[in-house]
Amino acid sequence: MINYPDSVIREYERIKKLISIRDKKDKGSNNYLKIDNKINEAWERFDNLKRDFIEQITNKLCKNYNIAVEDLTDAKILKSTKNRRRLRLIAPRYLFIEKAKWKCQKYGTQFVEVNPAYTSRTCSKCGKVKENLSLQDRIFKCECGFELDRDINAAINIAARGACEAL
Ligand SMILES: [Zn+2]
Repeated sequence: MINYPDSVIREYERIKKLISIRDKKDKGSNNYLKIDNKINEAWERFDNLKRDFIEQITNKLCKNYNIAVEDLTDAKILKSTKNRRRLRLIAPRYLFIEKAKWKCQKYGTQFVEVNPAYTSRTCSKCGKVKENLSLQDRIFKCECGFELDRDINAAINIAARGACEAL
């Protein structure tokens, strides 16, 4: 599991705080504009921190591994709710994917986008599809007795599909 470093999350929280302070000021006033400037600078810093991190992480990953991701072009999950928006803002997939594609080419490793159907709901051990997995279920539990973090279970399925496609 790889998470953004704390510095990125902190910057995002700081921006949210600044926005709420700014919005209590009179629009167009000196104070308002001063804070607005700060917010713009903070967005820039936030973007740079993200880019640096993605640069480093894709370097490390794509040099040493073949990469498989879900092809989410048509996925319902990207249709926006507030949480999805926040998630996309902090962890924009396209930034990572574009970089990873390019780096794999550069290092001669493989990059594949796989069919995302049932990657979360399939047991990575026995292959059985679980019908009733909700987003609240953080642990994947299968009838066969297998239990694993749902994201890691899905990642194993994605990697396995990627390996098939790459053959
Ligand atoms: Zn199972």
